[in-house]
Formats: sequence, C-alpha cells, structure tokens
Amino acid sequence: MTTQTAKTIDGKTTALSVREDVAKRVTRLKEHGVSPGLTVVLVGEDPASQVYVRNKDKAATKAGFVVDTKKLAATTSQGDLLAVVKSLNADPAVHGILVQLPLPKGLDEGEVVRAISPAKDVDGLHPDNVAALVMGEEGLIPCTPAGCIELCDRYGIELEGKQAVVVGRSMLVGKPIAQLLLARNATVTIAHSRTQDLKAVCLGADVIVAAVGVAKLVQGDWVKPGAVVLDVGINRGDDGKLVGDVDFAAASDNASHITPVPGGVGPMTIAMLLSNTATAAARIAGVG
Ligand code: NAP
Repeated sequence: MTTQTAKTIDGKTTALSVREDVAKRVTRLKEHGVSPGLTVVLVGEDPASQVYVRNKDKAATKAGFVVDTKKLAATTSQGDLLAVVKSLNADPAVHGILVQLPLPKGLDEGEVVRAISPAKDVDGLHPDNVAALVMGEEGLIPCTPAGCIELCDRYGIELEGKQAVVVGRSMLVGKPIAQLLLARNATVTIAHSRTQDLKAVCLGADVIVAAVGVAKLVQGDWVKPGAVVLDVGINRGDDGKLVGDVDFAAASDNASHITPVPGGVGPMTIAMLLSNTATAAARIAGVG
C-alpha cells in the first residue's frame, strides 16, 4: 500500500541552474582578466570515457571556460603521461586538470592522480584534497559527492542531526560523501559488501546514499517512511535501460525525497566539475 509518494529530486534542472551560476562566476573572472581553463586528459579509446569527456567539454565550453581535451594513445607510457600532467601543472592558462579514469591497464592511476597539482585537481582525488576534506580545510571536493550535497541544499533538505547511511565505501563516492555528511553534522554509517543485515541498517536511516553499482539493491521496504534517498548508482538493466542502486518505484512509496536514475545525481557531477574549476581558477588567480 502506498504510504507516501516521494518528491522526485530533479537533478537535470538543478544541474542547469548550477551551471548558470558557474557561467556567471566565469564572466566575473573574465572581468578580472582571468580566462579560466580546463584541460581534460583522455588516454585510450574507452567508449564510455569518450562520451563523458565529450559531455564535459561541451558543458565547460558553454559555461565560458577555455577547454582543451588532450587525447593520448592507449599505448602512452606512464612517463609520458606524467610529463603531460607536469606541463599542465606549470601552464598558467590551465586552472583545472582532469585525467579521465579509468586509465588503460598498465598505467598507475594513483601515481598520475598524485602528480596533479592539488590546486588544479578539479576531481578532488589528490591525497592533499582528500586530507583537506577529512580535516575540514579548504580544498577541492570530488564532484559526485559534492553534487549530492548541492542537491540537498537546493531542495532545503536539512542534514544536521540526521542518521545518514552511505552504502559503498569507494574513494570516488562513498568515503567523500560520508565525510561531507559528517561535516554537515549528520551521524554517518558507512555500509559495504561485508555489512551484516543491510536492510536493517538502511531502515535506521533518515538519509540513504546508495553508491554501490548493483541495480535495485536498496528495496522499497529498506526505506523508512520520510527518509531522503540519493541514488548514485548507474547500472544497465536487462532491458538496456539505465537503472540506479535503488528500486525507485518501490522506494518512492516511503521516501520523502528521492533522486531518479537517470536525471538525479548524474547530471550534478559535470555541474560540480565546472564549479570546482571556477573555484580553482579564482583561488589560483587570487580573485575573490
Ligand atoms: P566501486 O568503487 O565499485 O564501489 C562500490 C562499493 O559498493 C564498494 O565499497 C563495495 O563494498 C560496495 N558494495 C558492493 N556490493 C555491495 C553489496 N551487495 N552490498 C553493500 N555494499 C556493496 O563503485 P563507485 O565508483 O563508488 O560507484 C558506485 C556506483 O555509482 C556505480 O554504479 C557507479 O557507476 C556510480 N557512479 C555514478 C556517478 C555519477 O556521476 N552519478 C559517479 C561515480 C560513480 P566493498 O568495499 O566491501 O567491496
């Protein structure tokens, strides 16, 4: 029986609004003589990565950034890739560097991420930025987790004092979103593949963030009435359609707010990348 029909959080419209805000920040930077630049490095020919990079390029260009996509062969050596990163670190026209992951086999992602100047690390994955997040200091925050918080803010969802459960503990999503929720004074539980009785853990949550990569793992009766559900998962269903980590239809009966897949957290990732790039440019140029 339907107890409640959740408000659907519209990530598409919210992302557009964030992107408009970023475009205004870019205009202000240009008025101060700063032309913010984003360079995306794409190694190899992974089709999904090519689509992501194209979308980032388009969105950043539209927001007024100077965008350069460096396409490198899949056979690029670690040394050559590190040299490209080093030259971008030194280039004053480049304020944001994004190396599209995953890298082809044989390349050491960790070493590449550590080679990016933390000030230009718009993916927020450099250890200095990870440390800044944990320590509550100024840094650059990973885009998808930042997008989740932005959605909460723009929908007036209060996080302070709430029980939050993050399902997934990756460096890219689970861990940073947990830190951001903690910074907002939520009480945070991080669940993962070894968690016992995940249903009971989720039922205790006022806010559930699902970042797993298992289609419809979080079922409707795992969601407490009135809970907020943020679905980060992107999975391909049997019918070829995109589906999240949450059973959207069933969870909507219990949740107060829920993000759909597609059209929820996904569009926020690029929007927050643009926001990070504007922030990086402003800090590097010393423009407030
Ligand atoms: P990941 O690195 O594969 O991490 C998945 C996490 O889920 C791990 O911590 C794993 O636990 C946990 N897990 C796996 N199976 C589980 C289960 N049955 N029960 C509970 N926990 C389980 O993935 P990711 O990079 O964080 O991405 C997660 C999802 O978000 C994927 O669908 C990805 O496509 C999507 N994503 C979306 C965006 C976006 O823009 N919207 C951005 C990034 C990622 P262990 O640590 O114990 O293995």
